[in-house]
Amino acid sequence: MLRGARRLMSGIQPTAERAAELVANYDKVLSSVESAGPNVRLVAVSKLKPSSDIMALYNHGVRHFGENYVQELQAKAKELPKDIKWHFIGSLQTGKCKDLAKVDLLYAVETIDALKKAKKLLNACTSAINVFLQINTSSEEQKAGYSLGDLLELHETIEFLQGDTPLRLAGIMTIGSISQSTSGGENDDFAKLVTLKKGLDEKYGTNLELSMGMSNDYVTAIKQGATSVRVGSSIFGARPPRNGH
Ligand SMILES: *Cc1c(COP(=O)(O)O)cnc(C)c1O
Repeated sequence: MLRGARRLMSGIQPTAERAAELVANYDKVLSSVESAGPNVRLVAVSKLKPSSDIMALYNHGVRHFGENYVQELQAKAKELPKDIKWHFIGSLQTGKCKDLAKVDLLYAVETIDALKKAKKLLNACTSAINVFLQINTSSEEQKAGYSLGDLLELHETIEFLQGDTPLRLAGIMTIGSISQSTSGGENDDFAKLVTLKKGLDEKYGTNLELSMGMSNDYVTAIKQGATSVRVGSSIFGARPPRNGH
């Protein structure tokens, strides 16, 4: 039995070479996160990367990982250490909320964008989950998130989460447009999230976290007030195409 367990663990251990590469990448990102602002959480986005990559950073002390696909997250959560804090950051279909809520030790769902999804998550969850509400700050049709044009459902969701539920309203999240991300100056989409936070904090007596910033724009995001950044390719390298798409 011991031999079997050891074989299982060795399957998810990285090679020394890959581990050194990932640790170097992570440390470089972490130091630029830290020099951009204090107390910012760095979530390592490991979607489409093997569990052995996650183990390399886990062995280095990293605990916050982000995943985009419910099935992939389920499989990884099952085989990886139980003190990892998983963030679901992918687009969330109502029909998948139930499966997502069952993931072992799910720390946060960052992409709730409808009241009915919050309700589905609540119905299926067995322990506390931090919730971030996704905002479509760039008003792009293909992007998920609550619209800034009509805040009614966003307000309803916040009021629902402020009730007596194991779901904890942690903050708001956005991706923003590519053009804003590459503009070089202040990011207008991030600025919109900051303005929204101020209004919501005033209305609801909250101190909402801001999850914004990815590989291309996390330094800008932190300078504008991000408390949590989601960085993938700068740590893990380019991702393979998903399912050949
Ligand atoms: C993939 C993804 C990231 C990480 O993107 P990189 O550009 O690789 O850093 C961050 N946030 C969300 C929502 C993502 O889907």
